[in-house]
Amino acid sequence: MRKKVIVIGAGPAGIMAAGKAAERGHDVLLLEKNDRIGKKILISGKGRCNITNSTDIEGLIENVPGNGNFLYSAFYTFSNQDLIGFLNEYGLETKVERGGRIFPVSDKAKDVVDTLKKYIERFKVDLRLKSAVKEIKVSQGQVQSVVLQDGKELHCDSLVLAAGGASYPGTGSTGDGYKITRKLGHKVTPLKPSLVPLVALEEWVKELQGLSLKNVSIKLLNLNNKKIYDDFGEMLFTHFGVSGPLILSASRHILDYDYKNVKLSIDLKPALNEEKLYERLQRDFEKYSRKQLKNALDDLLPQKMIPVIIELSGVSPDKFVNQITREERKNLVKLLKNLELTITGARPIEEAIVTAGGVCVDEINPSTMESKIIKGLFFAGEVIDVDAYTGGFNLTIAFSTGFLAGANC
Ligand SMILES: Cc1cc2nc3c(=O)[nH]c(=O)nc-3n(C[C@H](O)[C@H](O)[C@H](O)COP(=O)(O)OP(=O)(O)OC[C@H]3O[C@@H](n4cnc5c(N)ncnc54)[C@H](O)[C@@H]3O)c2cc1C
Repeated sequence: MRKKVIVIGAGPAGIMAAGKAAERGHDVLLLEKNDRIGKKILISGKGRCNITNSTDIEGLIENVPGNGNFLYSAFYTFSNQDLIGFLNEYGLETKVERGGRIFPVSDKAKDVVDTLKKYIERFKVDLRLKSAVKEIKVSQGQVQSVVLQDGKELHCDSLVLAAGGASYPGTGSTGDGYKITRKLGHKVTPLKPSLVPLVALEEWVKELQGLSLKNVSIKLLNLNNKKIYDDFGEMLFTHFGVSGPLILSASRHILDYDYKNVKLSIDLKPALNEEKLYERLQRDFEKYSRKQLKNALDDLLPQKMIPVIIELSGVSPDKFVNQITREERKNLVKLLKNLELTITGARPIEEAIVTAGGVCVDEINPSTMESKIIKGLFFAGEVIDVDAYTGGFNLTIAFSTGFLAGANC
């Protein structure tokens, strides 16, 4: 039967759902409140769009700490490999980078959006931009229509809600999906920022604002000094604490701690153990033996960091290097290997890469994405209570759930 399907939200989940439903022969209306589609895709992966990941299905699930098991059907029905095949078929060439991350060969997120556009155009999806949905109407447990912000009511047989999360509201995902769903009696689990910059207690971070560190390793520890997470890569100091790829990835591992009561230990010289670093420092101090400490660390540390490290070491910056004691050198080495910050929170959800929490998965059929409460209502993408680590997994969720919703609506 040819149905009238409405899809709310032209992000990756909604575009995929709309295209798939239209491919099956339904009349599909895709409603998007922005004046263009896929606005968040355009800024994804720093404008390069990390589309998916080359890992296997188990690997995909493992990278979804927020209700990964809910996604088995979605990932098996439309896997990362299916997604790559689909995009290739529509003319987008892809490549694999570090950690299995898949990007367009062009390194342009816009090419991903253009490719998706071809899909919905091919199957004649009726795309209506600048059309914000205010409400979904239900009668006798069956979806009936949507009401737009301007009051217009549009009838439908099936509806896919793919309005995204609440992060980066400038892209259009302002949390409307949660409000609309709550009104229908669906449970929405508490929303939390995930993949988010972290706030630190120490005032000295402000002095390092803007400093980016490459090739450092970090550890997150609980108050009993038990390791929660460790990783290696690039991070950034900000006026409130820390950010950058390494920190965003790490943040998801302390969501359950509410980003509090956690210590961040930064190893500024992970390639050298303490002994080797001591020898290295010794060599630098021989080279600069007649200089003051404040002028003797240039080879070892970025300029901005030198006063901070000296302050933390408790040694006077004016002390001449040849007067620095063995104990003081050892302490300096310890500091470089374990620069500690006290994490007191995270930045708000608006600054998070994804929203953790959302439409409760217990009330959605994982094989179809249909609501267990309202017939004809389907969910796709970030609006659902699922969230993943960085590496292309969040977009994979959007595409796979979008496909499944489109295939069943
Ligand atoms: C800076 C940044 C970088 C990212 N990089 C990556 C990456 O490289 N790889 C990765 O896997 N993930 C990445 N993500 C996450 C990923 O982009 C999202 O998880 C994904 O876009 C979610 O897809 P979605 O379709 O569910 O929602 P969205 O992409 O948010 O799309 C939802 C759409 O619904 C529309 N909408 C909302 N409310 C209404 C309404 N009431 N009426 C009509 N339309 C409405 C919105 O305007 C929007 O277009 C990144 C996120 C950010 C913020």
